Formats: sequence, C-alpha cells, structure tokens
Amino acid sequence: MVSTIKQHIALISVHGDPAIEIGKEEAGGQNVYVRQVGEALARLGWHVDMFTRFSSSEQSTIVQHSHNCRTIRLQAGPKEFVPRDNIFEYLPEFVEQLIKFQKQSGITYRLVHTNYWLSSWVGMQLKKIQGVKQVHTYHSLGAVKYKSVTTIPMIATMRLATEKAVLETGDRIVATSPQEKEHMRSLVSSKGKIDIIPCGTNIDRFGRVSREEGRQKLGIKPDSKVVLYVGRFDRRKGIETLVRAVGRSQLRGKEDLQIIIGGGSRPGESDGIERDRIEGIVEELGLREMTTFPGRLDRDILPFYYAAADVTVVPSHYEPFGLVTIEAMACRTPVVGSDVGGLQFTIVPAETGLLCPPLDEVAFANAIDRILSNPEWGQKLGQAARKRVEKMFSWDGVASQLGELYSNLLQQTAVGLQKVGA
Ligand code: UDP
Repeated sequence: MVSTIKQHIALISVHGDPAIEIGKEEAGGQNVYVRQVGEALARLGWHVDMFTRFSSSEQSTIVQHSHNCRTIRLQAGPKEFVPRDNIFEYLPEFVEQLIKFQKQSGITYRLVHTNYWLSSWVGMQLKKIQGVKQVHTYHSLGAVKYKSVTTIPMIATMRLATEKAVLETGDRIVATSPQEKEHMRSLVSSKGKIDIIPCGTNIDRFGRVSREEGRQKLGIKPDSKVVLYVGRFDRRKGIETLVRAVGRSQLRGKEDLQIIIGGGSRPGESDGIERDRIEGIVEELGLREMTTFPGRLDRDILPFYYAAADVTVVPSHYEPFGLVTIEAMACRTPVVGSDVGGLQFTIVPAETGLLCPPLDEVAFANAIDRILSNPEWGQKLGQAARKRVEKMFSWDGVASQLGELYSNLLQQTAVGLQKVGA
C-alpha cells in the first residue's frame, strides 16, 4: 500500500539552506527547490526533515516550517559562511552528525533526496552505512560548468568523480529537464536510472497580480517599457549581456525604456563585486537614468515586479532549469532567455517568449525589441506562458511526482525485506 509507505524522509542540501533568505550569492534556485518540495511533500502526508549546515553561529538548530516539515542544521566545519568549493572537507562531519541526530531523535530515514554534488556524497555514505534509498537532483553539472569557465577549481576532479558515482549508484536521479538528462548521458555516464521531474513554482502566489496593480505598487508609469532581470549577481548569469542589449535597443530615446535588475549582494563579496561591475557598464553605456537596482526582492514583492514587466530576460551562460523563467511566465510575462539547458524546455520560442544564443547582445536586443514594440503580441505570449506553467510546473504537481517515485522505491525495499524475512 502506497499510503502506509509515506514516512520520514530527509532532503539533504548541505550548502543550500532552505530556511534562509533567497537572492544572495549562494542562495538561489536550490534553496527554493528544497524548501518548496519539502513543504509540498509534507502537505501530501510525508514527514520531511531538510538537513543543511550551520553557516552562522546565530542560526537556530531547528526551524519548523509547517506541521510535518522542518529545517535541521548540523555542524560541519566552522559555523560561518564557507564557499561551496571549500565545503567538501567538512562532509564526513556532516554524515556523522546526521547519523547522531537519527540516534538521538529515534527517527530513521529510509530514503534521502540529495541536492547538488556535495550532498550526493553524503547520501552515498548513508547508503553504504545505513542502506538508505537515494534520490538525487544535481542542480548544476560540473561537466557542463567547467566547459564554460576559464579557471577550473581544485575541487573539480572530486566533483566530476562524485557526480559520475552518484549517477551510477543512486536509486534514481531526477533530471529537471530533458536537456539536463541528455547532458548526464552524454557528459557523465550511460549507466544509472534517470527520471525527468521538472522544478515548479507557486502558481497562486505568482499570477495573482495584474500588470496595472504591479505598476501602481512600484510607481511605474503605464506607458513605460520595462525590462526585468531577477537573480543572483554572478557573471554566469549574463547580466552584462542584458545591459548591453538594452544599450543597443532601437527603442532607446523613442520610448521610456526602464531596466530593473533585482537581486541581493554583499559589498566586497563576489556578488557585490559583480554588481559593481554591472553598475560600471550601465554607467559606461549611459543607461544610469533608466536603470534601477532594487536589491534583494522578497517573495511578497516579487510577483509585482514580474507582473509590471513587459519582458523578463534570463541571459544565463548556462541554466540547468531556471526558476525565474517559470515565475515570470506564471505572472503572464514573456521571457527572453538564452538558448541553453532548461530554458529550452521552459520557453517555447514565439509561443511563450524567445530564445537567443548566450552572450549574443545583438540577438538579445532584437528579441527584446520585437516584444516591446508589439505589446499585443507580448500579452499573447504572456497568456500562453501562464497556461504552460499551470499545466507543467506547479510545486504540488512536482511534489506528487516525487512522492510517487519515493513510494515506488520504498515499496521495492519493503518487498525486498519481506523476501529476506521469508
Ligand atoms: N530570488 C529571489 N529574490 C531575488 C533574487 C532571486 O527570491 O532578489 C529567487 C528567484 O525568485 C528564484 C531563485 O531566487 O526563485 C533563483 O533561482 P534560479 O533557478 O532562477 O537561479 P539560481 O539561483 O538557481 O542560479
């Protein structure tokens, strides 16, 4: 019986704390995914514990999100922010602490769903020590990432080996798009079981604000042409391409063009440095007057920004899925995105938005202009975008697909145990 199999599961996200504020350098899609999947699974009756590491001594050990869903922080290395490339050495401590937590609390997890390669290593250890079932979501693939970066970090060899090992030994790998599955097969390994279950979004939160309400709330004039970016300040997000594209727009000087670049940053840290660099380009291109940087946008205000925009731009060099795209689409805003990874799955060209080659500022300028100069078409794209999200990308739909997968895997164990006992 599937329902009796709903039990304690652990979502493991060593570096992406599901309980912290989103929009800063290391807090983005993964944190949102884990938190939303966790809460949606709990609504379906699972008991969900989400494990992450302390990244400050001021954080509490347990954050209860809803009746059956909580974040639990474990000590792994110093209780301070550690960049993800430096976390690996603290993983054995994380495993130890997780096992200790289970002993002390009397809870046994029969299934763990790990997120990002660091957590996959933790899951593989737990599988060896405790025989748990492991489901894994990559969020980002080293094999793809290192193709597009000039300096390859020391940790790359370990990461690539771990990513291959979990694909081959995990009970199931979740690819969030057909494109990601294809990359796993062509760049990582031909072995292992992969299911495609996409990321989701909250279709009630994103989509309840009209364009007029959004503009009124943010003080944007009805006839302004608004181009929006939402996300982390990271070079690979391609914000520079967006800024240079708007700099080339044919509508410049003819229409009231506005660029909004939303996302958090910390002065002196890598995201703060990228923001300064982007501000420098804005200045150099003479776009200062038309550009605003509202900083980190919280979940309550975000729907107003998406709704107010004429077009949301996702100019990433690579994107395994890209939550911002489906959030904007849920708000009936067309998206111009890079023709890469998950964006090829979420955006249907000329139906819900447009795709451009990454880093191609001329192509982005043309695509943005095409939408801005034809508002009726823009609205049509937005309506179709909303329909696509409703059909394919709600968190509740995603969680029920994941829940079914877990149940099937746990049932296999139950049958296996019965056989052993027989
Ligand atoms: N985000 C946010 N506030 C901000 C910037 C980003 O809430 O100021 C959220 C955004 O809404 C999305 C997530 O951070 O849910 C970014 O996810 P995405 O998959 O687009 O990019 P990633 O950060 O994983 O590269």
